[in-house]
Amino acid sequence: MATVPQVLHVAGVVLPEEEHRDLYVVDGTVSYQPTATATTVTQGWIVPGLVDAHCHVGLDKNGAVDLDTQERQAVTDRDAGTLLVRDAGSPADTRWIDDRPDLPRIIRAGRHLARTRRYIPNYGLELEPDALAAAAAVQAGRGDGWVKIVGDWIERDRGDLAPCWPDDVVRDAIEAVHAAGARVTTHVFGEEAVRQFLDAGVDCVEHGTGLDDGLLAGMAERGVALVPTLINIDSFPGIADAAAGKFPLYAEHMRALHASSRDVVRAAYEAGVPIFTGSDAGGSLAHGLVGQEIRALYEAGLSASDALGAGSWRARAWLGRPSRLIEGAPADFVVYPADPREDLECLSRPRCIVLRGHVVPPGG
Ligand SMILES: [Zn+2]
Repeated sequence: MATVPQVLHVAGVVLPEEEHRDLYVVDGTVSYQPTATATTVTQGWIVPGLVDAHCHVGLDKNGAVDLDTQERQAVTDRDAGTLLVRDAGSPADTRWIDDRPDLPRIIRAGRHLARTRRYIPNYGLELEPDALAAAAAVQAGRGDGWVKIVGDWIERDRGDLAPCWPDDVVRDAIEAVHAAGARVTTHVFGEEAVRQFLDAGVDCVEHGTGLDDGLLAGMAERGVALVPTLINIDSFPGIADAAAGKFPLYAEHMRALHASSRDVVRAAYEAGVPIFTGSDAGGSLAHGLVGQEIRALYEAGLSASDALGAGSWRARAWLGRPSRLIEGAPADFVVYPADPREDLECLSRPRCIVLRGHVVPPGG
């Protein structure tokens, strides 16, 4: 006897269109054609799968992690509703995850590209300036359309944050990545390196605590994205406390950047800069915190709808993935018991998660 493919049915309000629909899942895709044999799974508020646009699978505070830990990280993100990850740099080869239909889809940036001894040990490829452009071109070929360059870090002689690279090196590296058809994002905390990378045509800024109104206006004009990682920025005061004895200038700088971080996000939002959700999971932060970052963006001044969109449909569109649950779209969505725009707390209580047309975790 031939097996009849199972059709799932979810009733509810589909966001962001805000339409009450009967949504069917047929062969991994969304359909609105009623099917008599469908199994009703649940009902609620239906949101395109969440996006963590700054996440590290395969990484913990000491560097690369083993396969079991990689799996646990991916499962934790998935169970928080993250069905699409932009991996912002990982020292581990996580390609095996692409063969696992029950784990989130990952868009990789390859290895972090960092200056020698100017980043967290065991994370990135540590390079001198003359090697950056070639290394960036290699990572453009290995990733999924993104390359990550660490733009600034503490410079111990200066005792403060400082750009990691000369201007012309940044320019050449970005040019090499663009020539390979990929986009560049940069880790930047301070004021100097972010200006340097924006002048050189970077496509996205991670953290971006050193942005000012003039730079934000330029980002808005060119559509350069900002992924603030606010829950990571909340670790700045602790970093400052640990560094204060040896590097008082740096400690003061980090505290000031933390203090103004919400103002920067609000100014970016008001300027029209595209802002996306990134939890920065996988270094020192836990996985599964995407909902917390969405709430942090809301508290910084984004509307609830824009904060949710920053971690769902708008981030999907920016990453070139299907963003709306239209007829024929991949069935990647999360169902919540209430309207998450009215109650962002409910992001931590997904009622049902459907990835590639299947309820996950299986039986969940
Ligand atoms: Zn990161």
